[in-house]
Amino acid sequence: MGLLTEGTPLSWEETKQLASHVREHGINQFINIYKKLKERKGDILKWGDEIEYIIVKFQHEKKEAKVSLRAEEMLAILNEREYQSPDTVKVLWRPEFAAYMIEGTPGKPYGGTLAHFNVVESNMRMRRQEASELLRENECLMTLTSFPRLGCVNFTEPPSKVTPNEGGTKSLFFPDAAVFGGHPRFMNLVRNIRKRRGEHVAINLPIFRDKNTKIPVDDSSKIRRAALPDCVYLDAMGFGMGCCCLQLTFQACNIDEARILYDQLNPLCPIMLAFTAASPVHRGFLTDIDCRWNIISGSVDCRTEEERGLKPLKDNKYVIKKSRYDSIDSYLSPQGEKYNDIPLLYNEEDYRKLRDNGIDHLLAQHIAHLFIRDTVSLFSEKINQNDEEDTDHFENIQSTNWQTMRFKPPPPHSPIGWRVEFRPCEVQVTDFENAAIVCFVVLLTRVILSYQLNFLIPISKVDENIQNAQKRNACKEQKFWFRKDITTDISPPEANRCCRGTNCEPKDCDLVGLMTVNEIINGKQGEFPGLIPLINSYLNGMDVDADTHCTIQQYLKFIQKRASGEIHTTASFIRDFVTSHPDYKHDSVVSEIINYDLLKTLKDIQEGSRSCPELLGYSATSKTKETIPHALKNDC
Ligand code: ADP
Ligand code: MG
Ligand code: MG
Ligand code: MG
Ligand code: MG
Repeated sequence: MGLLTEGTPLSWEETKQLASHVREHGINQFINIYKKLKERKGDILKWGDEIEYIIVKFQHEKKEAKVSLRAEEMLAILNEREYQSPDTVKVLWRPEFAAYMIEGTPGKPYGGTLAHFNVVESNMRMRRQEASELLRENECLMTLTSFPRLGCVNFTEPPSKVTPNEGGTKSLFFPDAAVFGGHPRFMNLVRNIRKRRGEHVAINLPIFRDKNTKIPVDDSSKIRRAALPDCVYLDAMGFGMGCCCLQLTFQACNIDEARILYDQLNPLCPIMLAFTAASPVHRGFLTDIDCRWNIISGSVDCRTEEERGLKPLKDNKYVIKKSRYDSIDSYLSPQGEKYNDIPLLYNEEDYRKLRDNGIDHLLAQHIAHLFIRDTVSLFSEKINQNDEEDTDHFENIQSTNWQTMRFKPPPPHSPIGWRVEFRPCEVQVTDFENAAIVCFVVLLTRVILSYQLNFLIPISKVDENIQNAQKRNACKEQKFWFRKDITTDISPPEANRCCRGTNCEPKDCDLVGLMTVNEIINGKQGEFPGLIPLINSYLNGMDVDADTHCTIQQYLKFIQKRASGEIHTTASFIRDFVTSHPDYKHDSVVSEIINYDLLKTLKDIQEGSRSCPELLGYSATSKTKETIPHALKNDC
């Protein structure tokens, strides 16, 4: 999201009244963008990452760690620098949902030469350094996917109170003060999502059952009907949107290439979710999941009871299968069409209008499907728009469909082309790991395009994978549907048949099968080449300077080791740390002191003052540089 425009949010009742206005104009705006920009071509590869950070305050005397609610204060200073010299800053800072979070991106996107891979980690370091200069004593900027004791009594600094009966969040656990207050958008979303849904959002995480785990783990079930037994119950948007992630955006050379990338990266989403798993602890309990995904999905699930299929349809139009934060429902490229095997909901009129304006079936149904969601945030200044020039109504719906992949049209009057965003990854503790993941995924896009690889499988199978990816230890233990034959275009009946699991004949499984993350990334003799060997073969044909080569190889080695299980995921590292801590009572509880020790350890690892071969391997150093040597600057 760009710099957020200030404005006056409408009440939920007013916003609701304007739902069809936003839908109508949003679709018109997309049609206008499409007509103007469909022929745009010749854009070069550009790409960039987004990293979200948590500000942590250590209270060493008490052995406690809190989230520090100072994002607004820090952003004011960081953004002032950008305002003064927008063209030269090396880092851009943006607000995020929580008052303890900030988001940083490179000042400019990276380009198409391999040398760019060598500045990613250095830019990430620069981000930490720049923001860290504004920290107070005992504060630390951390890349934690979830703060383990989020929602526990007294988890913020300064301390804040929950207000279950008033305010925006009305949570039993998450105070309004922990929502970013510097822009009304965030609290407005909280309120409107709750109001649209008609009740609090409700997330019930299966607890990790240890020998002394007491069920029920607390008494929230006495207070709220939605709280299920044996689960860690969460009741606020902050539990999901207050998690941090790592995202990547790529520019394609034209709209068709963007559609191909959108599709081809989709089967990789669950694999990378499992690979980056980093969030096993929630509200002070060790859970049986390793990832944030379903939590965020549930935390912004604005569907009514009717839409969730719990009541017969009366006031609403459809039963909707997923939250507006979830995995994508359809492929966009001609190759993808035959793998679109889940029913896609959309309003026939919207679809018709898009088709009548020259938009093909796949793109029309994608846009119409995004628009089954109502606006949950509207500002009075933005109601009336010129659909030829403005895009706010389109962006309103587009940017509140938080999915694994996002297809991003060019902003009007900008040098930016058609882009896709890769959104599943959890953020890692160190810049080294984050840079390695970023470079790995960018390299995969190059391999896919250069070798014209085909990773497509039925989209229902990707959904299954997304659920499996979140299970405890999925990176090591789960098997995922994956395409074995990535060099040919297989026909869908075959692809489907061999995905049916137990009933499938061995010969059908030659095309798509179940594989571990290790097999997918490192390869399986005689069956699947492996993503890393594919990348290496691509790199063999490329000219690259020695330092960049070394950096890339360090990253790929790290990816290989984590995939093979030789080193831990962040999630399994955290699990081990908790369960072997002297204060752990085998009751699934992550106490203040365990939380403190864990975060202090992660801080030392992130700063490099403590080596951690079990998480990083023995050679987690790169030759990252601050700038690209002049001779290598030209984009290819
Ligand atoms: P959002 O929050 O909407 O996903 P951000 O602006 O926070 O978007 O981040 C977008 C990412 O895209 C940043 O990493 C940025 O460097 C990168 N980026 C900017 N311009 C381009 C471009 N032309 N092509 C690809 N990526 C770009
Ligand atoms: Mg962003
Ligand atoms: Mg966000
Ligand atoms: Mg963000
Ligand atoms: Mg993003």
